[in-house]
Amino acid sequence: MSLNLVRTSLSSTKRALPVAIFGLMLGLAGCDNASTTDTEVDTEVASTEQSTANAIAANDEQVVTIYSSRNEQLIKPLLDRYTEQTGVRVELVTDKTGPLLARLQAEGSNTPADMLLTVDAGNLWQAAEQGLLQPVASDILETNVPAKYRDPQGNWTGLSLRARTIFYDPSKVDPNQLSTYADLADPKWKGKLCLRTSKKVYNQSLVASMMEHLGAERTEEIIRGWVDNLATDVFSDDTSMLEAIAAGQCEVGIANSYYYGRLLEEQPDFPVQIFWANQDTTGTHVNISGAGVIAGSDNPDGALKLMEWLSSDEAQGIYASADKEFPVKEGVDESEMLRAWGPFKQDDISVQKFGELQTKAIQMMDKAGYK
Ligand code: FE
Repeated sequence: MSLNLVRTSLSSTKRALPVAIFGLMLGLAGCDNASTTDTEVDTEVASTEQSTANAIAANDEQVVTIYSSRNEQLIKPLLDRYTEQTGVRVELVTDKTGPLLARLQAEGSNTPADMLLTVDAGNLWQAAEQGLLQPVASDILETNVPAKYRDPQGNWTGLSLRARTIFYDPSKVDPNQLSTYADLADPKWKGKLCLRTSKKVYNQSLVASMMEHLGAERTEEIIRGWVDNLATDVFSDDTSMLEAIAAGQCEVGIANSYYYGRLLEEQPDFPVQIFWANQDTTGTHVNISGAGVIAGSDNPDGALKLMEWLSSDEAQGIYASADKEFPVKEGVDESEMLRAWGPFKQDDISVQKFGELQTKAIQMMDKAGYK
């Protein structure tokens, strides 16, 4: 009994501190570049504070606390299902990736968080680089998630896939004119190309993959070509970029597949087509959403069990179809819409490269004038 009391009191102290620190950090939350139409959340201060308060009241062993940059409405049904099956309660603290990493940094071993759930291998790599995640070994994850979508050191794993590929206006572009990301730098696309800002990690990862495949010099040439071909200023998000193609502002662009999927769901006759890039060369650029166990977690086993469950057939079916993403586990059915887009060759690159080359990619895009 006395042991229990000591434990409770320590636990309360540990959980009270982050609330105070987070209070100081609220001002940072608005500085992220992510847009409101992203899969990443906008600032949700109220729900975050409430979630933290709930986490404080909870029993460590029966609760897994997730710091998540993914939309609550997207991820909640999945977590509710996990609770139903296991009795383990899941606390969700939602914010953008940047503020979540800063918060983990400030909280250190006092963090109430057990798991980080976010998008893009570049973000997960950053979290690992900052020492915020701990390596795990799991036969289940190794079986369910192909090696190229996991950190070789075990700090994070992919849980769903998204293709970043070419979209076009079929009233102006014959798909036979399209081939690779690099070809969008050709002068034939002058004044016809739309792009999202280079500040977004998705483009940093795409350019990192091009640097890996084509070398720095050739990639810089391509980026300069893209900039020369722009029809208009860069967009803050993929959805606006796709809508610009639909509105006739440009003829081609690059976006993540699920944004297109969502637009198609709202408007089945949305006048933009998808094209699988680089099918005769390296394959289409594929990135992950994923998770890792927090270094300062009180409940790393609980976090790992949840991650393993998220890679299971059942979770992959829900997880991937809910947001028009592709399952990371092979053999799990895609949604009907995704099947309609047809099979495609994926880039074989290990996604950890996106993190390794991120700084170089950012510097190069800056140098080449890609805003
Ligand atoms: Fe997104």
